[in-house]
Amino acid sequence: MTVTPVKNAVEFTSFSAKDESEIELIESLVERMGAPLMILDCDVVRNQYRALAAALPNVILHFALKPLPHPAVVSTLLAEGAYFDLATNGEVDLVASQGVPANKTIHTHPIKRDSDIKVALEYGCTTFVVDNINELEKFIPYADKAEILVRLSFPNAQAFADLSKKFGCSPDKAIEIIAYAHQLNITVRGLSFHVGSQTANPEKYVHAIGRCVELFSQVEALGLPTLHTLDIGGGFPVTYSQEVMPIDEFCAPIRHALTALPAYAQVIAEPGRFIVAPSVTSVASVMGQAERDGKTWYYLDDGIYGSFSGIMFDEGNYPVDALYWQGERFESVLAGPTCDSIDVIAESIMLPKLNNGDLIIGRMMGAYTSATATEFNFFKKAQFVILNEYHAVDSLSQVI
Ligand SMILES: *Cc1c(COP(=O)(O)O)cnc(C)c1O
Repeated sequence: MTVTPVKNAVEFTSFSAKDESEIELIESLVERMGAPLMILDCDVVRNQYRALAAALPNVILHFALKPLPHPAVVSTLLAEGAYFDLATNGEVDLVASQGVPANKTIHTHPIKRDSDIKVALEYGCTTFVVDNINELEKFIPYADKAEILVRLSFPNAQAFADLSKKFGCSPDKAIEIIAYAHQLNITVRGLSFHVGSQTANPEKYVHAIGRCVELFSQVEALGLPTLHTLDIGGGFPVTYSQEVMPIDEFCAPIRHALTALPAYAQVIAEPGRFIVAPSVTSVASVMGQAERDGKTWYYLDDGIYGSFSGIMFDEGNYPVDALYWQGERFESVLAGPTCDSIDVIAESIMLPKLNNGDLIIGRMMGAYTSATATEFNFFKKAQFVILNEYHAVDSLSQVI
C-alpha cells in the first residue's frame, strides 16, 4: 500500500497494517464516544518498556512523563517495575496519585522555584538536577535532604529538539559546580545529560558517556567525593516516516561505552518518547469539505491546535490515512477544525474520496501530541480510550 507523507517527500514505511477487527473496534468506539479519540494501548507501552530494558540491561529506566503524562501510562509502567522522571509539581501529583513510591523518582528540571524543590521533597523525591551555580545555591537550605546530578551539555544539531542549547553546562563548569557543592556540603550524586530527543545516531551517547567517564576520574583525582551515578537521559528514537535502527542495535554501542565506567557506578536513563510514541492511534472525523485549487480540503475535528500539535512543536511527521482506503486516491488537504489558516495537518496527501463523518487515523501519536494540545477556539481535546490497562477501569471491556 502507498501512503503519501504529511509534509515532505519521504514514503511512509511504518504504517501498520489495518485489519477488519481494528476497523470494527475504531468504529464502535466512535459510535459510543464520538470523535476525536486518542486510543492508548497499554500493551504497546509495556512492550516498548521491555524492549528498552532488554537493550539496556543494568540501566534503571526512569520514564519521563512529559511526552504523555497519562495515569494509565504511569500505572502500566509502575507494574512493569519502572522508575519515573519528574520535572514539575503537576508530574509529582500525577505519580503520587498512582501510588508511585517516591524513591522510584528523580526530579530533572534544571531550573526550579524554591516551591518546586519543597513540593518534590515533601513527596519524598530527593534527587535533583542543576547545571549552574545559581541553581546549586538554591539547595543550601536542603543540603541534608537533597542530592544533585550535574547536567552537562553536548550540542546535537540533528536532534528534533536540541536540548543542549537550553540546558546543561560544559565539563569544566561541571567540575566547578561539583567543587563548590563540596564546600557547601551538598552531595553530588553524579552526572546527567540529554543528547536531544529523537536522536538517530547512538554515537551522540557514546561521545557524551566518554566525556562523563573522564569527569568521574577527574573528580576523583581532585580529591572530591566520588560520583556514583550516570544519567544518560532520554532521546531514544522511534520510526515515524523515516526508519530508525531497532532499539537493540541502537543501544549496542551505548552498552559498550558504559563498560568504561567504574564498576560501582549506577547508570540510569530517562526515556520518554520511545516508551509512548507507538502506543497511541488518533481518530478524527471529517466535519466538512471543499474544493479549492483542484484539491479537496477535508476539515477534521482534530488538528494542529489539538492532537497534531506535535507537527508544530515536535517536527512530528505522523503516518496519517483514511480508516478505509479502497479505490482511487486523489491529492487532498487535511485541515484542522479551528478558524486559523495555519491549522493544516497535511498540505498534500493522497486520500480516497471521503464523506463527512468518515474517519482519519494517525499512527505513532503517543509522544508530544495530546501533551501539547490546546482547546483553542473551544475545540475540546481528543478523549482518551485505554486498551489493555492493568486495572481495567475504563478499559475496552467496559466501553464496548
Ligand atoms: C523531555 C525530557 C526527557 C524525555 O526525552 P525523550 O526524548 O522523549 O526520550 C528526559 N529527560 C528530560 C530532562 C527531559 O526534559
